[in-house]
Amino acid sequence: MTDYIPVFEPVFNGNEKKYLNECIDSCWLGANGPFVKKLEKDFAKYCNQKFAATVANGSAALDVTFRALKDLYKWEDFSEIIVPSFNIISGAQSCIYNNLKPVFVDCEDKTWNIDVSKIEEAVTKKTKAILVVHIYGLPSDMEPVIEIAKKYNLKIIEDAAQAHGQTYNGKKCGSFGIASAFSFFSNKHISCGEGGIILSSDEELLNKFNYYKNLCFTSNKFVHNDLGWNYRMSNLQAAVAYAQFENIDKVIAKKQWIGNIYQNLLKDIPCHLSPVKTNYANNHYWVFGIVINKDIKLTAKEAMMKLKNDNIETRPFFFPLHKQPVFKNLGILDNLKRPVSESIYDKGFYIPIGLNLNEDKLLYISQKIHELFR
Ligand SMILES: *Cc1c(COP(=O)(O)O)cnc(C)c1O
Repeated sequence: MTDYIPVFEPVFNGNEKKYLNECIDSCWLGANGPFVKKLEKDFAKYCNQKFAATVANGSAALDVTFRALKDLYKWEDFSEIIVPSFNIISGAQSCIYNNLKPVFVDCEDKTWNIDVSKIEEAVTKKTKAILVVHIYGLPSDMEPVIEIAKKYNLKIIEDAAQAHGQTYNGKKCGSFGIASAFSFFSNKHISCGEGGIILSSDEELLNKFNYYKNLCFTSNKFVHNDLGWNYRMSNLQAAVAYAQFENIDKVIAKKQWIGNIYQNLLKDIPCHLSPVKTNYANNHYWVFGIVINKDIKLTAKEAMMKLKNDNIETRPFFFPLHKQPVFKNLGILDNLKRPVSESIYDKGFYIPIGLNLNEDKLLYISQKIHELFR
């Protein structure tokens, strides 16, 4: 038996400590500090957008994004936003907090990204935007999304929380959206514990991001015309995020190294694995997913339980948003099925991809996965 293998472990072996010390020595721990400004400037540039607003986390980034867009474009209450059904709750939750209605579109079974062939049938007169989420380190197919957005005059919003540094046909993820949100949570390519950022090339939008994330302060201090949030990022968080950002190429290279080893070691199991690539991107393996073939009796839950007994931590796939009890209770769901997200939830899970993994551990994990199918 091996030591416990967590599903992810970040490494902090760059300038993290040095930059944290600089914050403390300069007494600048809070918002608007030099690392916040540097991170905003350089991360925006890295993603080919003009502007950035840091925020407290990735979910906050989406809250602020939808509020700012709704305000700038005067979207009416209950305007519709297309959201992938195979996704974390954040984007859909942000719609609801802003009195917008998420409309769920199924994913495709190869990449688990939004099924672009099903977007158009979900568009109505009330649709204002498409939230594109690049799932598990592979970009969504942007070209058809851009076409549909043009045809129906919709905005594209990117949730690139799992795709820092990823590209679609050579163009950075996060460069396609009128607004693009990222997270710097502990398990993302860039991690500062908690943190996030929103990018845009529209200065008016940037001003609205900064307004809503900062309690809607006006130049007439302590007089408020709107309600927002305190979603500011501290200089301490930005110091760690900046040091992580300096090493992003190494993080992606290590994840691809792990991903390629898994591809080799697991190629014979009766499962669909995270794809190596699509015709527009190589996988960065934010996580490495496994979906057990339908004709195998084993469920994801059973497989995960067995691996837990071997000291291997795993995570389930997203629970489909169109089945979420909270959304059912809110009465925002239709009765349509999204069969792919439902079936991959039953059969899918992801396996360790921590940045400290070595070949021995990968061999051990792969061997235990093989044993599931004996
Ligand atoms: C992590 C994540 C979020 C939420 O980010 P937090 O920083 O945890 O709030 C949103 N969307 C996606 C796709 C994510 O992976």
